[in-house]
Amino acid sequence: MSSDRSFNPLEMARSQFDSVADYLELDDGARQLLRTPMREYHFNIPIRMDDGSVQVLRGFRVQHNDARGPCKGGIRFHPQETADTVRALSMWMTWKCAVADIPLGGGKGGVICDPHNLSAREQEQVCRGWVRQVARNVGPQADVPAPDVMTNSQHMLWMLDEYETIHGGRYPGMITGKPVGMGGSHGRTEATGYGVIYTLREALKELGIRPQDTSAAVQGFGNVAQYAIDLYHQIGGTTICVSCWDQREQKSYSFRKAAGIDLEELRGITDTYGGIDKDKARDLGYEVLDGDVWIEQEVDILIPAALENQINADNVNRVSKQVKIVAEGANGPTTPEADAVFKEQKVFVIPDFLANAGGVTCSYFEQVQSNMNYFWDAGEVLGKLDQQMTSAYIAVSELAQHGGLYMRDAAYVLAIKRVVTACRDRGWV
Ligand code: NAD
Repeated sequence: MSSDRSFNPLEMARSQFDSVADYLELDDGARQLLRTPMREYHFNIPIRMDDGSVQVLRGFRVQHNDARGPCKGGIRFHPQETADTVRALSMWMTWKCAVADIPLGGGKGGVICDPHNLSAREQEQVCRGWVRQVARNVGPQADVPAPDVMTNSQHMLWMLDEYETIHGGRYPGMITGKPVGMGGSHGRTEATGYGVIYTLREALKELGIRPQDTSAAVQGFGNVAQYAIDLYHQIGGTTICVSCWDQREQKSYSFRKAAGIDLEELRGITDTYGGIDKDKARDLGYEVLDGDVWIEQEVDILIPAALENQINADNVNRVSKQVKIVAEGANGPTTPEADAVFKEQKVFVIPDFLANAGGVTCSYFEQVQSNMNYFWDAGEVLGKLDQQMTSAYIAVSELAQHGGLYMRDAAYVLAIKRVVTACRDRGWV
């Protein structure tokens, strides 16, 4: 959740783009095309509530750029969703698919709602209502949605079912993040979190640090955070602090155990939204602390894996000098002001659209499998994912080393160059 209400992620996405556009000396046409999404859909979704009343929710789909392939990007259900957030996220998806070097463009969707307050039947209405509004504008060849914050495989299946009902056929490649056995891919659940750690593993190698000698603090305890912690522990790391949002109290908390958290134990007391039960955590010996304490832990690695705007000008000075790597699991967790501080202090940042590209890469694998109607086993999917993420990391890191660039700038240069080339090759700019 953005702590600062005046924070505008679109301004942040644009300022990042503008500085790379200057560096690349992009012409005016390319700048105009890429600063703004190509297409946007804003619509009402009327929902018949369980008590018989009607609620009208606001929904969005934004297609930023599809020069390299069909748009791709998640759908978020969030009470504070805004059109500008969706626009920024769609732009980041374009760069993410380009940096991961998968043949897809960038899109994003959202609905302003809080699924905590909606029954399963009401959530189904939201999913079907969303698809009804954009059924002609999304699809396997045009724009392929996926789950994101507070949406899951069941939501995706309802959306697919509505799409197939409208179009009268089976189109499993219309959406990704579906349940395994219903067109979903093995490995999709783990993909984003694991992908963060594939890139972290490569960064540690580059810096000559052994994973078993490191510790980490993580913001968030949802899908991305849990699987990142899982693989980080498998390669030998220790997580000493995680944080999450407390729905009842409408504030965040950090959970700390100096000797290292036990992932399975914490998972056992966490709800499906990634909220940890405070009382049970205390009983298990965790210190329950203020929500922002995760950021000031004396650790080697920070993994923000909750929401955007979490490391900013107000709190970046609380980051310990011991921190060597920030692996951005969330989208846009570090503001440009905080980023400038990391750059100056030579903190090694694995930027969001590289670090968390595992999700969309596996979504791409899911789409490929769905279109073939032939599915790979988990080992094959995760092996391909590791290969794709490692190649993406190496391409960015080589550019950073050769060009003397900060990792985020190198990732942007690589991604924007690829997208601009596709737009030029098509004759658009
Ligand atoms: P999720 O809903 O599963 O989990 C979010 C977690 O963040 C929860 O534990 C929640 O309690 C916590 N949280 C929310 N507000 C917080 C706050 N103010 N302080 C501390 N914790 C807070 O979501 P997710 O799928 O894990 O996504 C997390 C981030 O990763 C988002 O930025 C999302 O856009 C990004 N992302 C997700 C995927 C994916 O495949 N799921 C892919 C790429 C990027």
